[in-house]
Amino acid sequence: MKSFNEETVLSVHHWNDTLFSFKTTRDAGFRFRNGEFTMVGLEVEGRPLLRAYSMASANHEETLEFFSIKVPDGPLTSKLQHLKEGQSVLVGKKPTGTLVTDNLLPGKTLYLLGTGTGLAPFLSLIKDPALYDSFETIVLVHGVRYIKDLAYQDYITNELVKDEYLGEMVRGQLIYYPTVTREPSLHNGRITALMESGKLFEDIGLPQIDKQDDRAILCGGSAMLEDTRTFLEARGFVEGTRNNLGSFLIEKAFVEK
Ligand SMILES: Cc1cc2nc3c(=O)[nH]c(=O)nc-3n(C[C@H](O)[C@H](O)[C@H](O)COP(=O)(O)OP(=O)(O)OC[C@H]3O[C@@H](n4cnc5c(N)ncnc54)[C@H](O)[C@@H]3O)c2cc1C
Repeated sequence: MKSFNEETVLSVHHWNDTLFSFKTTRDAGFRFRNGEFTMVGLEVEGRPLLRAYSMASANHEETLEFFSIKVPDGPLTSKLQHLKEGQSVLVGKKPTGTLVTDNLLPGKTLYLLGTGTGLAPFLSLIKDPALYDSFETIVLVHGVRYIKDLAYQDYITNELVKDEYLGEMVRGQLIYYPTVTREPSLHNGRITALMESGKLFEDIGLPQIDKQDDRAILCGGSAMLEDTRTFLEARGFVEGTRNNLGSFLIEKAFVEK
């Protein structure tokens, strides 16, 4: 039996020259927990070429959505970025990952700290009604280089807030904080610098992050993950895994080669 399903591309959206998203059909048997990833790819020269992708859609949705980088000479994304409606993509049948809230100790405020396509698992999580039952406040911080990289900004600030089922929870409990590092914007600077200086907490009107009541989920490049891990561990936060509940969770948004 094949380890992946063949899904059909329903739509493709190009955010800019380096980022795009696509929606596909979803096999009725494909179950996942919000925040997980699976293998996604194409058949190339008769063989499957697959890479890890977080589901950007929530598990209650009928279709699947993925948010992708375009690496110019990347084996998969140099081809995947040319996807067209109606084309087939391969979607692994075994979703997995650590960024599921079951791995977190109970808390009051949940920080979702992501850079670049590290936003993807958080898009799934912020559409999960259970998240709003588990935490009083959810702070979604998206760090990017340029304003044009703030994919989903309009969706989060204009659409999700009006959603028939989630809108009220999102309006009352979700704080979205986009930050840009390479050009002036409403918020500027690296996520760790904003936490170290306390500016993030001042801007959102919350106390400094604290291991007692706060939880964090991290998804991004290695430098951001290591700096944020150091910041959190210095404040007594403990990493959660499948076997041990913790006060923060971490997952690489990609592997550097
Ligand atoms: C757990 C996990 C989840 C992932 N989820 C996603 C996701 O939701 N969306 C997504 O676009 N990618 C995701 N990735 C990365 C993805 O698996 C591939 O690396 C990406 O699709 C590029 O594939 P490629 O074959 O074109 O190039 P690769 O040979 O895989 O990568 C080439 C180089 O490009 C850079 N790179 C790769 N991916 C990224 C990225 N996302 N952002 C910035 N630089 C990158 C790295 O330096 C890498 O060495 C994830 C990776 C892991 C480990």
